[in-house]
Amino acid sequence: MNQKKLIWQIFPPNLLITLAAMLAVGWYGSSALHKFYIDQLGEGLQSRAYLIRDQVSKLIAEDRIGLLREFCLNSGREAVTRITIIDRSGKVIADSNEDADLMESHGNRPEIKEALNGGTGNSIRFSKTLQENMLYVAVPLRPYIANEGSSEGVSLSSPGVLRVAVPVTAIERTLKNVQLKVAFGAIIVIMAAALVTLYVSRRISKPLEEMKQCALRYSRGDFSQRMLLHKGGSVSLEVATLAASMDRMADQLNERIQTILRQRNELEAVFASMSEAVLAVDTNERVLSMNKAAALIFGVNEKHAPNKLLQEVVRNIDLQRQVKQILENLEPLQDEIALQYGESERFLQTNGVPLNDGNGNNIGVLIVMNDVTRLRRLENVRRDFVANVSHELKTPITSIKGYVETLLDGAIDSREDAERFLQIIVKQTNQLYAIIEDLLALSRIEKLSENEEVDLRLGNLKQILEEAVQTCQIKAAGKKIKISLICPDNLQAMVNPTLLEQAVVNLVVNAIKYSDADGEVIIRADLTRQDQGEKRVVISVQDFGVGIAKKHLPRLFERFYRSDKARSRKMGGTGLGLAIVKHIVQIHGGDVAVQSQEGEGATFYINLPPIIE
Ligand code: ADP
Repeated sequence: MNQKKLIWQIFPPNLLITLAAMLAVGWYGSSALHKFYIDQLGEGLQSRAYLIRDQVSKLIAEDRIGLLREFCLNSGREAVTRITIIDRSGKVIADSNEDADLMESHGNRPEIKEALNGGTGNSIRFSKTLQENMLYVAVPLRPYIANEGSSEGVSLSSPGVLRVAVPVTAIERTLKNVQLKVAFGAIIVIMAAALVTLYVSRRISKPLEEMKQCALRYSRGDFSQRMLLHKGGSVSLEVATLAASMDRMADQLNERIQTILRQRNELEAVFASMSEAVLAVDTNERVLSMNKAAALIFGVNEKHAPNKLLQEVVRNIDLQRQVKQILENLEPLQDEIALQYGESERFLQTNGVPLNDGNGNNIGVLIVMNDVTRLRRLENVRRDFVANVSHELKTPITSIKGYVETLLDGAIDSREDAERFLQIIVKQTNQLYAIIEDLLALSRIEKLSENEEVDLRLGNLKQILEEAVQTCQIKAAGKKIKISLICPDNLQAMVNPTLLEQAVVNLVVNAIKYSDADGEVIIRADLTRQDQGEKRVVISVQDFGVGIAKKHLPRLFERFYRSDKARSRKMGGTGLGLAIVKHIVQIHGGDVAVQSQEGEGATFYINLPPIIE
């Protein structure tokens, strides 16, 4: 940067101008003064020459050279003037200061030449004779006429030149003195001018310097101070106007920046709090920004993602393909991607649009993603459920259809066959009925829990469990199974008695179903202290029947899941009993569990929610 400070642009040129002006004035003044002095002196010398010219002419005409030399000597001494008489050939005839006979020819001297030509010669020269600077004035001598009016017998040409001279050393000394004084004055003037220039330059540059500092602060985005120069009276109108407009500009800029910041913050807040995952990438597939939801889904830090390549942040080929496609076609695209999380999968519905700037130029892609995993799972569950229901219904219906057709084909004529077939048809119809009953029960319970309409109240558990035992008694008696109930008389819990009784009945019916004859089913209910120190009412139903293989336990409470399909069908099972139990217990805010080993019976648990004391 070779720009100079303002002060250095103003100060030196001003100083130079002053210096040049002083030099010019000094030079012109002193040379004018010199000329004036010399002119004055020249005129004086000329007068002196005229005064003695005729006298000299007369003495020459009379050829009285000795007298002439004496006259020169005396007049020269009196007038402190050197007087020299030169004849036409240039020879010195007389001189007031020197011996004329010893002097060289003066015909070549410029003032003499001029005088010989009839004019008045002037010259300043160094006199070798007197060893100093002299001003010479030479006038032509007039021919002497003894008798005025008669010029007979007399030569009329000039007899020579009269030269008078004075030293100019004194004048030069005086002039030097004057020049010295002028130079001294000039130095003072220059110094004063320098100080004034410095002061003025500072006055001009100081507010500009302040403005510069303020402008630098503005450029850094610091609008805390204003120039305020226009308020003071010490600055020029131009600077004050400039400062005022810059202050106004800063105000507007600040306001705009604040507005932009506010809007950006609002946008960022909206962006961050969106439950949908939002991801923006530029045309080079580098992440511009992503919100919290997206960062959470992709398991990255949203602050570190910007400027990284998309494939570094999200390792999903489908998403990269979609971004490429949108960048190529510049058209919105709706699709889906699946993300793998260890064993499980998450499904995201993606809505991608080209991202344009204010001028409509494409600057990247914006993708909004919705987590549709739950939706997909529900769809799968529904699909499976429909398939399962159809399958469950198809088995008894196929059987009924088969036997009815057999009857119609003639079997009806044999009473024995007809009775046997009708028995089977009744059994299958009961199975159908049971499935439909259970499905209806399940949907009723689901509806209750969805609408949160379940009426829970403090109930005596022993009473409820006794009712359940009562309901199962006939079935138990059929297989000579003993049902034991162990429950404190005053055990109470927040329950819906009807639903809880149905859940326990389902468990006890299963226990009877999957126990051999003469077995035992034990129902226990008690307040138990859990690991975390909280108390919960736990109801358990234990049998000593066939038991369940370990691999079936995790899925046992799913709809239509059976550990032993053949046995379940034979027993008239629907595969929905445990699903109903699970839903009922969930309505109560509790959970279910099972413990079993194949061949050693099973224990099902209903854990009601912890009691808040
Ligand atoms: P189901 O109507 O077939 O009994 P559930 O939903 O009640 O249907 O039971 C699901 C499956 O769990 C049954 O098919 C059976 O295989 C197994 N199961 C349930 N309770 C017991 C039990 N007490 N002992 C052994 N297996 C059982």
